[in-house]
Amino acid sequence: MFSFNILKKDKETKARIGILRTPHGIIHTPNIAIVATKGSIRGLSFDKANRFGAEIFMINTFHFFHNNRYEIVKKFGGLHKFLNINYPLMTDSGGFQIFSLGFGMEHGVGKVADIFPEESNIKNLPISKGRNLVKVYEEGVEFISPYNGRKIFLSPELSIKIQKALRADIIFAFDECTSPLSSYEYTKEAMQRTHRWATRCLDEFGKPENQVMFGIVQGGEYEDLRKESAKYINSLNFFGYGIGGSLGKSKKDIIKVLNWTIPLLDENKPRHLLGIGEVDDIFNSIEQGIDLFDCVIPTRWARHGAAFSYKGRLNLKSSKYLNDKRPIDPKCKCNICKKYSKAYISHLLKEKEIFGIILLTEHNIFWILNLFKEIRQAIKENKFLDLKKRILKYW
Ligand SMILES: [Zn+2]
Repeated sequence: MFSFNILKKDKETKARIGILRTPHGIIHTPNIAIVATKGSIRGLSFDKANRFGAEIFMINTFHFFHNNRYEIVKKFGGLHKFLNINYPLMTDSGGFQIFSLGFGMEHGVGKVADIFPEESNIKNLPISKGRNLVKVYEEGVEFISPYNGRKIFLSPELSIKIQKALRADIIFAFDECTSPLSSYEYTKEAMQRTHRWATRCLDEFGKPENQVMFGIVQGGEYEDLRKESAKYINSLNFFGYGIGGSLGKSKKDIIKVLNWTIPLLDENKPRHLLGIGEVDDIFNSIEQGIDLFDCVIPTRWARHGAAFSYKGRLNLKSSKYLNDKRPIDPKCKCNICKKYSKAYISHLLKEKEIFGIILLTEHNIFWILNLFKEIRQAIKENKFLDLKKRILKYW
């Protein structure tokens, strides 16, 4: 029911195109899972996203765990039935929230889901800034719910039990995602714990027919740890690999981390880069051999009034667009760009009209999915580096 086949490798880089088959459909790689955190894409239906070319969606386990909502989903027979959709789904493990509610909050590094702080944020940062809502034990992780202050405990076994109840096609092993500000010693300790958790996850998972699991490589920005983690996770019986955790203190570090990690992973298995999705990162990661991404950027940017375009990121809240009769991106073939002006969308955003966010979400998701189509086509025609050069001129 599940398989992954590589169809073609780029001649100049480690980029490749492949087909990932799941019981709910196939995913052409490289591809991006559109994030539907709590079971919705925030402004767009799953069907519409699918018509734009979305082939897989990512839903966050933590948001169905802290409120015990997974028990209701279980009664439905899983997320596909609860959401009434028939597309491939993946769930993360909840491990990311160890970072976002833990060190992420304490160090003031981003918020939920900003794995990857900009350099400017890091430099002036006091080491302990806020509250840390997480305690990590060998057995699992204690969270203080950010929603109601209640203590909740998530172990590798419980994460897998919940993910089995949610029944996404692809699930992830429970890992500890460390902060870019974690020390070498702490990153090592957390990585070794993640390895022990990985075997506990596999034991709990068993061999279900309707799901496969990806293991997660940790090790932060440290070469020896990344290599040790890649070798160890590769030695276990996972269907694919996620590359998680801190990818360093600057965008350039991501390439180094992938360069250390990917050559040590079985090349016939899919590789997913967790939580990364800016345009330059997408090209640089595919160049290193990444097959799958998931990222909240297309929807989050829309809520903040920012649009993807072939001329780079546009901030449509800027007053200069109020007199601009042209579409967001003249090259984009989405219905929003066919129909509406920047002026109208800018006006809606300035007036905080929900419809403005909906229009921008539709454009951003269409645009990013189309970029992946172009990337796959370019790899097919051995023109990946040409496309990268052309697109990154503005990014
Ligand atoms: Zn568009």
